[in-house]
Amino acid sequence: MGDCIFCKITAGESPSYKIWEDDFSLAFLDLFPLSRGHLLVVPKRHVDRLTDLPKEHHGAMLGAVAELCRRVERLAPDYNVGVNQGAIAGQIVFHLHFHIIPRYPDSPGFPKARVRLDPADAESLVKILSAQ
Ligand code: AMP
Ligand code: ZN
Repeated sequence: MGDCIFCKITAGESPSYKIWEDDFSLAFLDLFPLSRGHLLVVPKRHVDRLTDLPKEHHGAMLGAVAELCRRVERLAPDYNVGVNQGAIAGQIVFHLHFHIIPRYPDSPGFPKARVRLDPADAESLVKILSAQ
């Protein structure tokens, strides 16, 4: 889909800290995490938003999100799962993605400034989250 960054990631043309994939979807770390372990789950085929995803793929999408939730619980029992749909709702990348954002008791809010993912920590998160 043109210059869509998530299409480039799913095609392997742009780098990502990949955690999980199946035929339908891919999960990777958010490059500007709201918390440690913030990740994204995306369908491999481009759709802008959830209501563009064909019905026959709803099960695969939710299954992928649930699988990544199970893995995020290795980091934190509490987390947010969310989708921004449309610019006013905060969507910046117009390729459907589910955010999974761990929440920690010692940092209950979200940071005001987004800091780029630390590569060393990213490698250690990939190890934790990509294990079966
Ligand atoms: P949204 O505001 O829901 O569209 O979220 C887009 C998310 O994608 C943001 O949290 C960004 O930090 C994240 N993001 C943007 N580019 C990349 C990238 N190349 N790799 C990983 N995450 C990205
Ligand atoms: Zn795309």
